[in-house]
Amino acid sequence: MIRRLIDKVFARKTRPRPAGLGVAAMRYQRAQHQIERSELSDAAIRCCEQLQKAGHKAFIVGGAVRDLLLGRHPKDFDVATDATPEQVRSLFRRSRIIGRRFRLVHVMFGQETIEVSTFRSAHVASSDEESANTDEHGRLLRDNVYGTQADDAIRRDFTMNALFYDPSAEEIWDFTNGFKDIQKKRVVIIGDPEARYREDPVRMLRAARLAGKLGFSIDAETERPIAALKSLLANVPEARLFDEMLKLLLSGHALACIEKLRGLGLHAPLLPSIEEVLGAPRSRAFATLALQRTDERINDDRGVSPAFLFAALFWFPMCERAKELEARGERPLTALHRAMDEVLDEQRKSLAIPRRFDGNIKELWVAQSRFTQQSRAKAFRLLTHPRFRACYDFYALRAEAGDASPEVAAWWEKFQFADDGVREAMLLPDSGPKKRRRRRKKTAAPTGGVPPAADAEPES
Ligand code: ATP
Ligand code: MG
Repeated sequence: MIRRLIDKVFARKTRPRPAGLGVAAMRYQRAQHQIERSELSDAAIRCCEQLQKAGHKAFIVGGAVRDLLLGRHPKDFDVATDATPEQVRSLFRRSRIIGRRFRLVHVMFGQETIEVSTFRSAHVASSDEESANTDEHGRLLRDNVYGTQADDAIRRDFTMNALFYDPSAEEIWDFTNGFKDIQKKRVVIIGDPEARYREDPVRMLRAARLAGKLGFSIDAETERPIAALKSLLANVPEARLFDEMLKLLLSGHALACIEKLRGLGLHAPLLPSIEEVLGAPRSRAFATLALQRTDERINDDRGVSPAFLFAALFWFPMCERAKELEARGERPLTALHRAMDEVLDEQRKSLAIPRRFDGNIKELWVAQSRFTQQSRAKAFRLLTHPRFRACYDFYALRAEAGDASPEVAAWWEKFQFADDGVREAMLLPDSGPKKRRRRRKKTAAPTGGVPPAADAEPES
Protein backbone atom coordinates (compact mmCIF):
# COMPACT_ATOMS: atom_id res chain seq x y z
CA MET A 1 0.00 0.00 0.00
CA ILE A 2 2.69 2.45 1.10
CA ARG A 3 4.90 1.26 -1.77
CA ARG A 4 2.04 1.90 -4.19
CA LEU A 5 1.54 5.37 -2.73
CA ILE A 6 5.26 6.17 -3.04
CA ASP A 7 5.25 4.89 -6.63
CA LYS A 8 2.23 6.99 -7.41
CA VAL A 9 3.73 10.16 -5.91
CA PHE A 10 7.05 9.52 -7.61
CA ALA A 11 5.39 8.87 -10.97
CA ARG A 12 3.39 12.08 -10.63
CA LYS A 13 6.51 14.04 -9.73
CA THR A 14 8.65 13.01 -12.64
CA ARG A 15 5.93 12.46 -15.26
CA PRO A 16 8.30 10.27 -17.30
CA ARG A 17 8.10 10.95 -20.96
CA PRO A 18 6.08 8.20 -22.60
CA ALA A 19 7.57 6.37 -25.55
CA GLY A 20 5.47 7.18 -28.60
CA LEU A 21 5.06 3.60 -29.63
CA GLY A 22 2.06 1.96 -28.02
CA VAL A 23 0.67 5.10 -26.36
CA ALA A 24 -3.09 4.82 -26.61
CA ALA A 25 -5.22 7.80 -27.46
CA MET A 26 -8.39 8.89 -25.74
CA ARG A 27 -10.97 9.72 -28.39
CA TYR A 28 -13.60 12.41 -27.87
CA GLN A 29 -16.72 12.62 -30.00
CA ARG A 30 -18.72 15.66 -31.01
CA ALA A 31 -21.09 15.46 -28.03
CA GLN A 32 -18.07 15.77 -25.74
CA HIS A 33 -15.94 18.36 -27.54
CA GLN A 34 -18.80 20.37 -29.09
CA ILE A 35 -16.66 21.88 -31.84
CA GLU A 36 -18.86 23.20 -34.65
CA ARG A 37 -17.63 22.45 -38.16
CA SER A 38 -18.64 26.00 -39.09
CA GLU A 39 -15.85 27.24 -36.80
CA LEU A 40 -13.21 25.50 -38.92
CA SER A 41 -11.54 26.96 -41.94
CA ASP A 42 -12.85 25.46 -45.20
CA ALA A 43 -9.27 25.20 -46.38
CA ALA A 44 -8.27 23.05 -43.40
CA ILE A 45 -11.28 20.75 -43.93
CA ARG A 46 -10.57 20.38 -47.66
CA CYS A 47 -6.91 19.77 -46.97
CA CYS A 48 -7.64 16.95 -44.49
CA GLU A 49 -10.33 15.42 -46.70
CA GLN A 50 -8.10 15.31 -49.74
CA LEU A 51 -5.27 13.66 -47.80
CA GLN A 52 -7.68 11.15 -46.28
CA LYS A 53 -9.20 10.34 -49.70
CA ALA A 54 -5.69 9.46 -50.86
CA GLY A 55 -5.44 6.97 -47.99
CA HIS A 56 -3.48 9.09 -45.49
CA LYS A 57 -4.19 10.11 -41.94
CA ALA A 58 -4.81 13.85 -41.60
CA PHE A 59 -5.75 15.99 -38.63
CA ILE A 60 -6.00 19.61 -37.63
CA VAL A 61 -3.42 19.98 -34.84
CA GLY A 62 -1.85 22.24 -32.26
CA GLY A 63 -3.05 25.68 -31.24
CA ALA A 64 -6.13 25.59 -33.50
CA VAL A 65 -7.70 22.59 -31.69
CA ARG A 66 -6.91 24.15 -28.32
CA ASP A 67 -8.48 27.46 -29.36
CA LEU A 68 -11.59 25.77 -30.79
CA LEU A 69 -12.13 23.91 -27.51
CA LEU A 70 -11.85 27.20 -25.67
CA GLY A 71 -14.40 28.82 -27.98
CA ARG A 72 -11.74 31.10 -29.47
CA HIS A 73 -11.20 31.80 -33.11
CA PRO A 74 -7.91 30.14 -34.15
CA LYS A 75 -5.24 32.38 -35.67
CA ASP A 76 -4.27 29.76 -38.20
CA PHE A 77 -4.86 26.10 -38.96
CA ASP A 78 -2.07 23.54 -39.15
CA VAL A 79 -2.50 20.02 -40.42
CA ALA A 80 -0.46 16.94 -39.49
CA THR A 81 -0.38 13.81 -41.62
CA ASP A 82 1.43 10.52 -42.15
CA ALA A 83 2.04 11.48 -45.79
CA THR A 84 5.58 12.57 -46.66
CA PRO A 85 6.13 16.13 -47.93
CA GLU A 86 6.51 14.78 -51.48
CA GLN A 87 3.23 12.87 -51.21
CA VAL A 88 1.48 15.99 -49.93
CA ARG A 89 3.02 18.09 -52.67
CA SER A 90 1.80 15.67 -55.35
CA LEU A 91 -1.80 15.87 -54.08
CA PHE A 92 -2.18 19.65 -54.18
CA ARG A 93 -1.52 21.69 -57.30
CA ARG A 94 -1.02 24.93 -55.38
CA SER A 95 1.54 23.78 -52.83
CA ARG A 96 5.23 24.08 -52.15
CA ILE A 97 7.71 22.41 -49.89
CA ILE A 98 9.45 24.77 -47.47
CA GLY A 99 12.14 24.46 -44.82
CA ARG A 100 15.45 22.69 -45.04
CA ARG A 101 15.89 21.19 -41.59
CA PHE A 102 12.39 19.87 -41.32
CA ARG A 103 10.42 20.07 -44.50
CA LEU A 104 6.81 21.25 -44.40
CA VAL A 105 4.32 21.85 -47.17
CA HIS A 106 2.41 25.06 -47.63
CA VAL A 107 -0.89 24.32 -49.36
CA MET A 108 -2.72 27.32 -50.76
CA PHE A 109 -6.52 27.52 -50.94
CA GLY A 110 -7.51 30.93 -52.31
CA GLN A 111 -6.06 33.47 -49.86
CA GLU A 112 -5.49 30.91 -47.13
CA THR A 113 -2.37 28.84 -46.58
CA ILE A 114 -2.44 25.64 -44.58
CA GLU A 115 0.82 24.38 -43.16
CA VAL A 116 1.01 20.62 -43.49
CA SER A 117 3.66 18.72 -41.56
CA THR A 118 4.49 15.04 -41.54
CA PHE A 119 4.22 13.31 -38.16
CA ARG A 120 7.61 13.55 -36.54
CA SER A 121 9.33 12.23 -33.49
CA ALA A 122 11.47 13.98 -30.88
CA HIS A 123 13.94 11.21 -31.67
CA VAL A 124 14.91 9.70 -28.34
CA ALA A 125 18.04 7.93 -29.50
CA SER A 126 21.00 5.96 -28.21
CA SER A 127 23.30 7.94 -25.91
CA ASP A 128 25.86 8.58 -28.70
CA GLU A 129 23.21 9.77 -31.09
CA GLU A 130 21.51 11.72 -28.31
CA SER A 131 24.60 13.75 -27.61
CA ALA A 132 25.02 14.44 -31.32
CA ASN A 133 21.45 15.77 -31.31
CA THR A 134 21.83 18.08 -28.34
CA ASP A 135 24.24 20.76 -27.23
CA GLU A 136 26.15 20.60 -23.93
CA HIS A 137 23.09 21.88 -22.01
CA GLY A 138 20.76 19.26 -23.52
CA ARG A 139 19.26 21.67 -26.08
CA LEU A 140 17.78 19.80 -28.98
CA LEU A 141 19.61 20.71 -32.17
CA ARG A 142 17.72 18.36 -34.50
CA ASP A 143 14.19 17.00 -34.34
CA ASN A 144 13.79 16.09 -37.95
CA VAL A 145 12.89 12.43 -37.81
CA TYR A 146 9.55 11.14 -39.03
CA GLY A 147 7.42 9.31 -36.49
CA THR A 148 3.99 7.97 -35.66
CA GLN A 149 0.97 10.03 -34.71
CA ALA A 150 1.69 9.25 -31.04
CA ASP A 151 5.33 10.36 -31.46
CA ASP A 152 4.06 13.56 -33.00
CA ALA A 153 1.85 14.16 -29.98
CA ILE A 154 4.54 13.69 -27.36
CA ARG A 155 7.20 15.74 -29.14
CA ARG A 156 4.94 18.80 -28.72
CA ASP A 157 5.39 21.19 -25.82
CA PHE A 158 2.22 21.24 -23.71
CA THR A 159 -0.63 18.75 -23.40
CA MET A 160 -3.16 21.36 -24.57
CA ASN A 161 -1.16 21.74 -27.81
CA ALA A 162 -0.98 18.04 -28.60
CA LEU A 163 -4.58 17.32 -29.65
CA PHE A 164 -5.53 16.03 -33.11
CA TYR A 165 -8.92 16.83 -34.59
CA ASP A 166 -10.26 14.81 -37.48
CA PRO A 167 -12.80 17.07 -39.22
CA SER A 168 -14.38 14.20 -41.20
CA ALA A 169 -15.11 12.01 -38.17
CA GLU A 170 -15.50 15.11 -35.96
CA GLU A 171 -13.32 13.31 -33.44
CA ILE A 172 -10.47 14.45 -31.17
CA TRP A 173 -7.50 12.16 -30.51
CA ASP A 174 -5.71 12.83 -27.24
CA PHE A 175 -2.47 11.04 -26.33
CA THR A 176 -1.43 13.29 -23.44
CA ASN A 177 -4.53 14.18 -21.41
CA GLY A 178 -4.65 17.60 -23.05
CA PHE A 179 -8.44 17.60 -23.31
CA LYS A 180 -8.84 17.43 -19.52
CA ASP A 181 -6.02 19.94 -18.93
CA ILE A 182 -7.82 22.43 -21.17
CA GLN A 183 -11.01 21.92 -19.17
CA LYS A 184 -9.00 22.52 -15.99
CA LYS A 185 -7.33 25.53 -17.60
CA ARG A 186 -3.81 24.49 -16.84
CA VAL A 187 -0.55 24.49 -18.72
CA VAL A 188 1.10 21.08 -18.37
CA ILE A 189 4.33 20.23 -20.13
CA ILE A 190 4.56 16.83 -21.83
CA GLY A 191 7.13 14.46 -20.33
CA ASP A 192 9.85 15.31 -17.83
CA PRO A 193 9.72 19.10 -17.34
CA GLU A 194 13.43 19.62 -16.77
CA ALA A 195 14.44 17.56 -19.80
CA ARG A 196 11.90 19.32 -21.99
CA TYR A 197 13.17 22.80 -20.98
CA ARG A 198 16.74 21.69 -21.53
CA GLU A 199 15.81 20.47 -25.01
CA ASP A 200 14.27 23.83 -25.78
CA PRO A 201 14.43 26.64 -23.18
CA VAL A 202 11.95 28.71 -25.23
CA ARG A 203 9.26 26.40 -23.83
CA MET A 204 9.61 28.35 -20.55
CA LEU A 205 8.60 31.52 -22.36
CA ARG A 206 5.82 29.73 -24.19
CA ALA A 207 4.43 28.56 -20.85
CA ALA A 208 4.23 32.19 -19.69
CA ARG A 209 2.75 33.40 -22.98
CA LEU A 210 0.09 30.71 -23.23
CA ALA A 211 -0.86 31.01 -19.56
CA GLY A 212 -1.14 34.81 -19.90
CA LYS A 213 -3.01 34.67 -23.17
CA LEU A 214 -5.48 31.95 -22.22
CA GLY A 215 -5.87 32.83 -18.53
CA PHE A 216 -4.49 29.41 -17.52
CA SER A 217 -2.50 28.50 -14.45
CA ILE A 218 0.83 26.75 -14.79
CA ASP A 219 0.90 23.27 -13.30
CA ALA A 220 3.23 23.09 -10.27
CA GLU A 221 5.48 20.39 -11.81
CA THR A 222 5.66 22.33 -15.05
CA GLU A 223 6.66 25.48 -13.20
CA ARG A 224 9.11 24.02 -10.67
CA PRO A 225 12.31 23.63 -12.75
CA ILE A 226 12.01 27.08 -14.39
CA ALA A 227 13.73 29.00 -11.58
CA ALA A 228 16.83 26.85 -11.87
CA LEU A 229 16.86 26.67 -15.66
CA LYS A 230 16.05 30.20 -16.75
CA SER A 231 19.70 30.97 -17.46
CA LEU A 232 19.50 28.48 -20.34
CA LEU A 233 17.65 31.15 -22.30
CA ALA A 234 21.04 32.72 -22.86
CA ASN A 235 21.91 29.81 -25.21
CA VAL A 236 18.92 30.36 -27.46
CA PRO A 237 19.69 32.11 -30.75
CA GLU A 238 18.87 35.80 -30.36
CA ALA A 239 16.53 36.02 -33.32
CA ARG A 240 14.36 33.18 -31.98
CA LEU A 241 14.21 34.75 -28.54
CA PHE A 242 13.17 38.05 -30.03
CA ASP A 243 10.48 36.39 -32.17
CA GLU A 244 9.04 34.66 -29.12
CA MET A 245 9.08 37.88 -27.10
CA LEU A 246 7.37 39.70 -29.92
CA LYS A 247 4.69 37.00 -30.04
CA LEU A 248 4.23 37.54 -26.32
CA LEU A 249 4.06 41.33 -26.53
CA LEU A 250 1.71 41.20 -29.51
CA SER A 251 -0.47 38.38 -28.16
CA GLY A 252 -3.31 40.73 -27.27
CA HIS A 253 -2.61 39.85 -23.62
CA ALA A 254 0.79 41.42 -23.18
CA LEU A 255 0.08 42.71 -19.70
CA ALA A 256 -1.05 39.32 -18.41
CA CYS A 257 1.91 37.65 -20.14
CA ILE A 258 4.41 40.06 -18.57
CA GLU A 259 2.89 39.39 -15.17
CA LYS A 260 3.34 35.64 -15.81
CA LEU A 261 6.95 36.27 -16.89
CA ARG A 262 7.51 38.16 -13.64
CA GLY A 263 5.88 35.39 -11.66
CA LEU A 264 8.32 32.92 -13.18
CA GLY A 265 11.29 35.26 -12.77
CA LEU A 266 11.87 35.26 -16.53
CA HIS A 267 11.44 39.00 -17.06
CA ALA A 268 14.86 39.93 -15.67
CA PRO A 269 16.94 37.96 -18.17
CA LEU A 270 14.77 39.16 -21.07
CA LEU A 271 13.74 42.71 -20.33
CA PRO A 272 16.23 43.78 -17.65
CA SER A 273 14.81 47.29 -17.31
CA ILE A 274 11.22 46.11 -16.96
CA GLU A 275 11.61 45.52 -13.22
CA GLU A 276 12.80 49.10 -12.75
CA VAL A 277 9.94 50.35 -14.97
CA LEU A 278 7.22 48.36 -13.22
CA GLY A 279 8.72 49.10 -9.81
CA ALA A 280 8.15 52.87 -9.86
CA PRO A 281 4.55 54.14 -9.88
CA ARG A 282 4.90 56.72 -12.67
CA SER A 283 6.75 54.55 -15.12
CA ARG A 284 4.56 51.59 -14.21
CA ALA A 285 1.43 53.61 -15.04
CA PHE A 286 2.86 54.56 -18.42
CA ALA A 287 4.14 51.09 -19.37
CA THR A 288 0.90 49.48 -18.20
CA LEU A 289 -1.17 51.88 -20.26
CA ALA A 290 1.01 51.27 -23.32
CA LEU A 291 0.60 47.52 -22.92
CA GLN A 292 -3.17 47.90 -22.41
CA ARG A 293 -3.54 50.04 -25.53
CA THR A 294 -1.48 47.52 -27.50
CA ASP A 295 -3.74 44.72 -26.32
CA GLU A 296 -6.85 46.71 -27.26
CA ARG A 297 -5.54 47.51 -30.73
CA ILE A 298 -4.68 43.86 -31.37
CA ASN A 299 -8.06 42.67 -30.17
CA ASP A 300 -9.75 45.23 -32.49
CA ASP A 301 -7.60 44.05 -35.43
CA ARG A 302 -5.84 47.40 -35.65
CA GLY A 303 -2.16 47.42 -36.44
CA VAL A 304 0.48 47.84 -33.76
CA SER A 305 4.09 48.80 -34.11
CA PRO A 306 6.66 46.92 -32.04
CA ALA A 307 8.83 50.06 -32.15
CA PHE A 308 6.06 52.05 -30.43
CA LEU A 309 5.78 49.46 -27.69
CA PHE A 310 9.54 49.26 -27.11
CA ALA A 311 9.74 53.06 -27.11
CA ALA A 312 7.06 53.09 -24.41
CA LEU A 313 8.64 50.33 -22.31
CA PHE A 314 12.06 51.99 -22.28
CA TRP A 315 10.98 55.66 -22.24
CA PHE A 316 11.50 56.16 -18.52
CA PRO A 317 14.89 54.42 -18.32
CA MET A 318 15.96 56.54 -21.29
CA CYS A 319 14.77 59.79 -19.69
CA GLU A 320 16.48 58.88 -16.42
CA ARG A 321 19.72 58.24 -18.24
CA ALA A 322 19.46 61.51 -20.16
CA LYS A 323 18.93 63.38 -16.90
CA GLU A 324 21.96 61.73 -15.31
CA LEU A 325 24.13 62.66 -18.26
CA GLU A 326 22.87 66.24 -18.20
CA ALA A 327 23.61 66.43 -14.49
CA ARG A 328 27.17 65.42 -15.34
CA GLY A 329 27.42 68.39 -17.67
CA GLU A 330 26.45 66.93 -21.05
CA ARG A 331 24.58 69.28 -23.36
CA PRO A 332 20.87 68.33 -23.46
CA LEU A 333 20.85 67.12 -27.04
CA THR A 334 24.06 65.11 -26.65
CA ALA A 335 22.68 63.64 -23.43
CA LEU A 336 19.48 62.63 -25.20
CA HIS A 337 21.31 60.89 -28.06
CA ARG A 338 23.75 59.13 -25.78
CA ALA A 339 20.95 58.00 -23.47
CA MET A 340 18.97 56.59 -26.40
CA ASP A 341 21.98 54.60 -27.63
CA GLU A 342 22.91 53.37 -24.17
CA VAL A 343 19.41 52.20 -23.29
CA LEU A 344 18.94 50.38 -26.59
CA ASP A 345 22.42 48.81 -26.39
CA GLU A 346 21.76 47.69 -22.83
CA GLN A 347 18.52 46.06 -23.90
CA ARG A 348 20.20 44.46 -26.90
CA LYS A 349 22.48 42.46 -24.61
CA SER A 350 19.52 40.31 -23.56
CA LEU A 351 16.65 40.68 -25.95
CA ALA A 352 18.55 41.64 -29.09
CA ILE A 353 15.95 44.02 -30.47
CA PRO A 354 17.01 44.19 -34.11
CA ARG A 355 18.67 47.45 -35.09
CA ARG A 356 16.07 48.04 -37.77
CA PHE A 357 13.70 49.17 -34.98
CA ASP A 358 16.16 51.72 -33.57
CA GLY A 359 15.33 54.45 -36.08
CA ASN A 360 11.60 54.35 -35.33
CA ILE A 361 12.07 54.13 -31.57
CA LYS A 362 14.43 57.12 -31.53
CA GLU A 363 12.13 59.10 -33.83
CA LEU A 364 9.32 58.76 -31.29
CA TRP A 365 11.58 59.76 -28.41
CA VAL A 366 13.20 62.73 -30.16
CA ALA A 367 9.85 64.11 -31.32
CA GLN A 368 8.46 64.38 -27.79
CA SER A 369 10.06 67.70 -26.91
CA ARG A 370 8.81 69.17 -30.19
CA PHE A 371 5.21 69.05 -28.97
CA THR A 372 5.87 71.70 -26.34
CA GLN A 373 8.45 73.85 -28.10
CA GLN A 374 6.48 75.27 -30.92
CA SER A 375 6.70 78.37 -32.97
CA ARG A 376 4.06 78.77 -35.65
CA ALA A 377 6.47 77.43 -38.27
CA LYS A 378 7.57 74.55 -36.05
CA ALA A 379 3.98 73.51 -35.40
CA PHE A 380 3.39 73.15 -39.14
CA ARG A 381 6.74 71.42 -39.61
CA LEU A 382 5.91 68.86 -36.93
CA LEU A 383 2.62 68.13 -38.69
CA THR A 384 4.52 67.13 -41.83
CA HIS A 385 6.71 64.67 -39.89
CA PRO A 386 6.29 61.38 -41.78
CA ARG A 387 5.37 59.62 -38.53
CA PHE A 388 3.53 62.48 -36.91
CA ARG A 389 0.57 60.34 -35.87
CA ALA A 390 2.72 57.80 -34.03
CA CYS A 391 4.70 60.61 -32.34
CA TYR A 392 1.47 62.30 -31.34
CA ASP A 393 -0.05 59.05 -30.07
CA PHE A 394 3.05 58.60 -27.92
CA TYR A 395 2.68 62.11 -26.51
CA ALA A 396 -1.05 61.56 -25.89
CA LEU A 397 -0.31 58.29 -24.13
CA ARG A 398 2.21 60.06 -21.90
CA ALA A 399 -0.42 62.72 -21.17
CA GLU A 400 -2.95 60.05 -20.23
CA ALA A 401 -0.44 58.47 -17.88
CA GLY A 402 0.33 61.82 -16.22
CA ASP A 403 3.76 62.22 -17.82
CA ALA A 404 2.85 65.06 -20.21
CA SER A 405 0.36 67.89 -20.41
CA PRO A 406 -3.22 66.83 -21.28
CA GLU A 407 -3.87 70.41 -22.49
CA VAL A 408 -1.01 70.23 -24.97
CA ALA A 409 -2.23 66.82 -26.16
CA ALA A 410 -5.76 68.20 -26.59
CA TRP A 411 -4.40 71.22 -28.48
CA TRP A 412 -2.60 68.94 -30.93
CA GLU A 413 -5.58 66.64 -31.28
CA LYS A 414 -7.59 69.63 -32.44
CA PHE A 415 -4.82 71.24 -34.48
CA GLN A 416 -4.00 68.19 -36.60
CA PHE A 417 -7.58 67.77 -37.83
CA ALA A 418 -8.54 71.44 -38.06
CA ASP A 419 -8.91 73.28 -41.38
CA ASP A 420 -6.49 76.05 -42.31
CA GLY A 421 -8.63 78.85 -40.89
CA VAL A 422 -8.98 77.20 -37.50
CA ARG A 423 -5.28 76.34 -37.42
CA GLU A 424 -4.33 79.96 -38.08
CA ALA A 425 -6.64 81.04 -35.28
CA MET A 426 -5.04 78.53 -32.95
CA LEU A 427 -1.59 79.96 -33.55
CA LEU A 428 -0.48 83.33 -32.40
CA PRO A 429 1.51 85.14 -35.11
CA ASP A 430 5.26 84.83 -35.04
CA SER A 431 7.09 87.90 -33.97
CA GLY A 432 10.71 88.83 -34.44
CA PRO A 433 11.86 89.49 -30.87
CA LYS A 434 10.19 86.36 -29.54
CA LYS A 435 11.88 84.31 -32.21
CA ARG A 436 15.26 85.77 -31.27
CA ARG A 437 14.64 85.02 -27.60
CA ARG A 438 13.67 81.46 -28.43
CA ARG A 439 16.85 80.92 -30.41
CA ARG A 440 18.95 81.71 -27.37
CA LYS A 441 16.90 79.31 -25.27
CA LYS A 442 18.44 75.94 -24.51
CA THR A 443 16.78 72.89 -26.01
CA ALA A 444 15.18 71.03 -23.15
CA ALA A 445 15.83 67.34 -22.71
CA PRO A 446 12.75 65.12 -22.54
CA THR A 447 11.10 65.49 -19.21
CA GLY A 448 10.18 61.91 -18.47
CA GLY A 449 8.56 62.60 -15.21
CA VAL A 450 8.61 66.40 -15.10
CA PRO A 451 5.43 67.46 -16.91
CA PRO A 452 6.00 70.03 -19.61
CA ALA A 453 4.78 73.57 -18.99
CA ALA A 454 1.04 73.30 -18.81
CA ASP A 455 0.48 76.10 -21.31
CA ALA A 456 -2.50 75.12 -23.37
CA GLU A 457 -0.94 76.10 -26.67
CA PRO A 458 2.51 75.87 -28.13
CA GLU A 459 4.40 79.12 -27.86
CA SER A 460 4.16 81.30 -30.88
P1 ATP B 1 -0.51 30.46 -31.09
O1 ATP B 1 -1.98 30.31 -31.07
O2 ATP B 1 -0.03 31.57 -30.28
O3 ATP B 1 0.09 30.38 -32.49
P2 ATP B 1 0.48 27.80 -30.93
O4 ATP B 1 0.39 26.79 -29.84
O5 ATP B 1 -0.28 27.49 -32.18
O6 ATP B 1 0.04 29.16 -30.31
P3 ATP B 1 2.81 27.87 -32.58
O7 ATP B 1 4.11 28.55 -32.35
O8 ATP B 1 1.98 28.29 -33.73
O9 ATP B 1 2.00 28.03 -31.23
O10 ATP B 1 3.13 26.32 -32.64
C1 ATP B 1 2.25 25.37 -33.22
C2 ATP B 1 2.35 24.05 -32.47
O11 ATP B 1 3.68 23.51 -32.56
C3 ATP B 1 2.08 24.15 -30.97
O12 ATP B 1 0.71 24.09 -30.69
C4 ATP B 1 2.85 22.97 -30.43
O13 ATP B 1 2.10 21.78 -30.60
C5 ATP B 1 4.05 22.90 -31.35
N1 ATP B 1 5.21 23.65 -30.80
C6 ATP B 1 5.50 24.94 -30.98
N2 ATP B 1 6.63 25.30 -30.35
C7 ATP B 1 7.09 24.19 -29.77
C8 ATP B 1 8.23 23.88 -28.98
N3 ATP B 1 9.11 24.82 -28.65
N4 ATP B 1 8.39 22.61 -28.55
C9 ATP B 1 7.50 21.65 -28.87
N5 ATP B 1 6.42 21.87 -29.60
C10 ATP B 1 6.18 23.12 -30.06
MG1 MG C 1 -0.15 28.71 -34.05
